[in-house]
Amino acid sequence: MMPPSPAAPPVVLSAPSGAGKTSIARALVAREQDFAFSVSATTRPLRGEEVNGVDYWFLSREEFLEMIRRGEFVEWAEVHGELYGTPLSSLAEASEGGRHVILDIDVQGARQIREAVPEALLLFILPPSVPTLLSRLAGRGTEGDAAIRRRLETALEELEAADVFDHHIVNEDLERAIREVRDLVRKGETVSRNDGVPEEVLRLRAGIESVLGRDTTSDSQ
Ligand code: 5GP
Repeated sequence: MMPPSPAAPPVVLSAPSGAGKTSIARALVAREQDFAFSVSATTRPLRGEEVNGVDYWFLSREEFLEMIRRGEFVEWAEVHGELYGTPLSSLAEASEGGRHVILDIDVQGARQIREAVPEALLLFILPPSVPTLLSRLAGRGTEGDAAIRRRLETALEELEAADVFDHHIVNEDLERAIREVRDLVRKGETVSRNDGVPEEVLRLRAGIESVLGRDTTSDSQ
């Protein structure tokens, strides 16, 4: 089903995990009145301080599958064994009053949005370096090496989707990254689309491959 055409095109924020995209999305929506958050639906259990209807709509698998059957998602994907999706109703509600709608979704969702809403602005957030990525991933909990390896492998796959995105923003300094996203979105159609895959993506991929002990033919560091 085609989503309604909102006044301002929706903005997709995706990133390899550990790049800090959720902090950027949350800060923008909290500070800027012309930004709103599209609340996704998910089958994963509620975590910590999360609130149903604010962070996500927490659904059973049956409820989620029923929404798929009824064509109620703009996009949906399976991430780490759980289902996540953007309901048409969330997109419509967030765009009321012509606000810029932020979708904090994974790269599979970003690809679907590119198809369903061609005018959407797709932004990819990058971690500044492999050591920073490693420390952010390790800092998330008490996980062992195997879990970190899995996350690195996922990050590598996510980096392979970099060419789908219009712009790539390096999150070295959170405040600067927030300003960069805000300014790109406000410039809207006047910014050029697709800045090409930057050197940083190739460097990060080579760095992760070497941490994973994979042979790489790339001469990037
Ligand atoms: P978490 O469970 O940590 O909140 O999110 C896991 C991943 O799912 C993140 O990459 C997040 O951006 C992604 N995600 C959250 N909502 C959606 C959604 O509606 N659609 C898709 N495709 N991915 C989502």
